[in-house]
Order: sequence, then C-alpha cells, then structure tokens
Amino acid sequence: MLGAIEAGGTKFVCAVGDETGEFAHSIQIPTTCPEETMAKVIEFFGQYDIDSVGIGSFGPININPESKTYGYITSTPKIAWRNYPLLQTIKDTFGVPVGFNTDVNAAALGEATHGAAKGLDSCLYITVGTGIGAGAVVQGELLQGHSHPEMGHILVRRHPSDAYTGKCPYHVDCLEGLAAGPSIEERWGDKGINLVDRKEVWDLEGYYLAQALMQYILILSPKKIILGGGVMNQSQVFSSIYKYLPELMKEYVSLPELSSYIVSPELGDRAGITGSLLLAHRALIEEN
Ligand code: ADP
Ligand code: ZN
Repeated sequence: MLGAIEAGGTKFVCAVGDETGEFAHSIQIPTTCPEETMAKVIEFFGQYDIDSVGIGSFGPININPESKTYGYITSTPKIAWRNYPLLQTIKDTFGVPVGFNTDVNAAALGEATHGAAKGLDSCLYITVGTGIGAGAVVQGELLQGHSHPEMGHILVRRHPSDAYTGKCPYHVDCLEGLAAGPSIEERWGDKGINLVDRKEVWDLEGYYLAQALMQYILILSPKKIILGGGVMNQSQVFSSIYKYLPELMKEYVSLPELSSYIVSPELGDRAGITGSLLLAHRALIEEN
C-alpha cells in the first residue's frame, strides 16, 4: 500500500491507495504547528502497512537530493514550519522510501498520469489561489534543477489602467503580487466570490495570466496547460485568457485550439494528492 501526503498551508491531506490513483482512505488535518499536525499524520499512516510515502508540499522546500537539508521546508512565512525536516520525519518514523516534491509538481504529475494530460509526456499545472505556483512534467519527468520552479513570481507588464500596487512581500508587483486571490480582494475591495458580476475583474485577471502563459509556453512548450486553484473557479478567467493570449503571441508560435489546450484540472482538487501517491510509487521503484 502506498501513502500520500499533500502538505498545504491550511491543511494536510493524507491518503493511502495505489498507483492507479484509487484511494482506500484519506483524512484532512489542519496545518497548525509541526508537533501537532505531524503527530496526527503519523497516527494515520500507523494504521496501515505502507511500502512508501509520497509528499507534495507547500514551499519553498528543498528538493535537491544532494543537499544536507533535502526534504526540509525552508523559508516559508509559516514560522513554525521553517527549516522543518518533513521528509526525514516520515522516513525515520516508518523506515520506507519517501518521494518529495512541491505540491504543484505533484499535481502536474497527477494530471499527466490520470487527469487532463493523461497519455502526454508533458504538461504544466498552475494554481491560482492564495498564491500562484506552477509545476511541470517535461519529457515524463518533473521539472526541477538547482531548486524547484517558482513560476508564480515572474514579472508581467502592468495594465495601463491598473493602479493597484501589488501584494508580493518580495517583489511587490510580480504575477502573484498582481493576480493571486488576496491581490484581487485588495484591489477590488471584496472577495473574488463576491465579484462574480464584475466583468473588469476577470478580464484583468486573464490579462495578467495570459502574459504568464505566453512566457511559460515560449520556454517550456507544454503539451497541455492545466489551471486550478480557487480563482479559476471563475470560468470567465479562461475566456479572458483565450482572448488575450493570441493577441500577445501574434501568431509567432502556433497554438493548439485553446479551449482544449488550456483547461481545468480533470482530477479537481485531488490532483495534488493523486500526484503524491505517484511520488510514493516512484520512490518505491527507485529504491528497488
Ligand atoms: P489555497 O491557494 O490556499 O490552497 P484556494 O486555491 O482555494 O486555496 O485559493 C484561495 C483564494 O481563491 C482566495 O483568495 C479566495 O478568495 C479565492 N477564491 C476561492 N474561491 C473562489 C471563487 N469561487 N471565485 C473567485 N475566487 C475564489
Ligand atoms: Zn513575487
């Protein structure tokens, strides 16, 4: 049996299942402090005979196996979790192989194996929620290098009529600073869910996301782009992206038909936990 953890800033989802993406059981645990949250995580997996565990985690995290602090959550704004050895804690407790990657890389793997990009060896998974993050599968492998990609923090051209300063604590008006959920709320003075009828809100959101997608497409040329996260519940954002992206590309790069190229997650909110299960499977195969 495989174990999976989707470690999020608000909650941890834990599940047991197999590589087909079928879950036998799962639970949700609030993300408080490591002592409290991890005690419950360990209690959950303790009930099963698990062969390996896969972790898709919020970050920033260290995913470089060569590093001394491999498997740590690193410079997160969540102080209690800073420099926390997440992978090591699970490995030491259960003595099984542990796969470790970002939540969004896990989601990309989930969608590429069992979801919207099934059968493709490449896809990009982007979440637009409290923050903006992206993971990618490239030639069947998860995209990582010196560290993991942080595609949410790229720079975009400001809309001439957008006077909002931006909210990223590091870069102020990077993509995340201008287009994540909290920025929408601060710019327009209300939660996204209450702005459904304000066309200009979602038009502007698509204006920024289309710029980001243009850059991701030019660099990675993914075979499928999957956009999830709370903000993408507004289907109007997809329409806005379909409008702005071709205007930006100017036919320089031929794009597939957009409504089947840029899509919602087929696994819904299970993309991350499904991918984590697959990380567990990969870790098991690598160990044997
Ligand atoms: P997280 O990123 O924390 O995992 P979500 O993906 O749900 O969580 O993103 C939360 C953000 O998405 C919040 O800023 C919230 O206002 C926004 N959001 C959630 N649901 C909707 C919706 N239906 N329409 C617009 N914005 C939404
Ligand atoms: Zn930033």
